[in-house]
Parts: sequence; C-alpha cells; structure tokens
Amino acid sequence: MPRYEYRCRECDTQFELARPMAESGAPAACPQGHGDTVKLLSTVAVAGTSAASAPAAGAAPAGGGGGGCCGGGCCG
Ligand SMILES: [Zn+2]
Repeated sequence: MPRYEYRCRECDTQFELARPMAESGAPAACPQGHGDTVKLLSTVAVAGTSAASAPAAGAAPAGGGGGGCCGGGCCG
C-alpha cells in the first residue's frame, strides 16, 4: 500500500499514512486530531530501487584533426 505524507496546518506536524490510492485525496486527521491537513508530495516507497550506478568510463575526447598549417604561413 502506498504511503502518503501529510502535514497538519494547525500544529505543523508531519505524518505518514498508508492508504489505498483511491483514498489518497481524502482528508486525513493529524495524530493530534486536527483535521486541517494538507497532502504533501507522495513518497512512494513501494517500487524497488535499482542500484545500477556504474561509473561512466571516461573517454578522453580526441583532439580535433586539422593541423594549423595555414595559420603560420607555411601554406603560402
Ligand atoms: Zn495537528
């Protein structure tokens, strides 16, 4: 079941609730019993995290070809 984060605007308490998605927008009372709460960005911790962070092999950029011949007057 996804968990949703809420914050109480009366006592500024932040709390989580695990509830079905269909009820994610339903009003949630804070642990102190206040009803004036807002839903925060959902922190869905259901999906597995893939730890595939391979370090990118740094390929050195090849130097641009083309000799600077005509710059030195050797082409003239
Ligand atoms: Zn409260």
